[in-house]
Amino acid sequence: CGIVAVVGAGDRTREIVLDGLDRLEYRGYDSAGLAIGDDTLHVRRRAGPVADPRAVADAVPAAGSVGIGHTRWSTHGPPTEANAHPQVDCTDRVAVVHNGVIENAPTLRQTLDAAGHSIEGETDTAVVPHLIEDALAEGHDPTAAVRAATDRLDGQFAFVVAIAGFEGVVGVRRGSPLVVGIDAPLTLASDVPAIRPFTDRVCHLADGDVVCVRPDGYAITAIDGTPRERPVETVDWES
Ligand code: GLU
Repeated sequence: CGIVAVVGAGDRTREIVLDGLDRLEYRGYDSAGLAIGDDTLHVRRRAGPVADPRAVADAVPAAGSVGIGHTRWSTHGPPTEANAHPQVDCTDRVAVVHNGVIENAPTLRQTLDAAGHSIEGETDTAVVPHLIEDALAEGHDPTAAVRAATDRLDGQFAFVVAIAGFEGVVGVRRGSPLVVGIDAPLTLASDVPAIRPFTDRVCHLADGDVVCVRPDGYAITAIDGTPRERPVETVDWES
């Protein structure tokens, strides 16, 4: 439903994620969660009427090189803590927040189960961190691993990935909006209002784009790795 991410914000990381999630509240949600970290990702999630992101925030550090947050409007799997986002892989090193639907998730889950993955919860999102875990194990760098995983997905979605030890986030847009806020600290969100206080300039991704956002800039590629350029727009309204 709603996605917010920030890189290079230091001790403001948690506050920026929470502020962004507050600004997405108008969209409604049944679960919420966030991950903050650098070499270790600290993940907290909550479901149900008490799913105020601020109610879980004390359990994660205020500072980190990377922060991602999500408000969920369940499509696959009930609103439980296990199904809330971020969803993680077997090693707790890959965390994913996702909007939309992954149509071939049941088939991918069978394949991953057979390969020995232990997948928590019932949501369609759950397969994504495990696919990325495998791609990283094959030696791909973070962006290439996300591209390889995305190549296996059918459906309409946007998602953002944090990987322990990687000072950046990787986002994918295919059918659901995703926008980069390009004034430091760099942000990534499903909606401009979520990041308006932190940036005057934004870059809307197009379908099929994969973006790697790092503290010093961002790079967009197609799913095959071809570099892509998208226009930068100045936002002319106040938050
Ligand atoms: N399909 C995902 C789920 O059910 C994402 C839902 C959303 O867009 O919030 O968890």
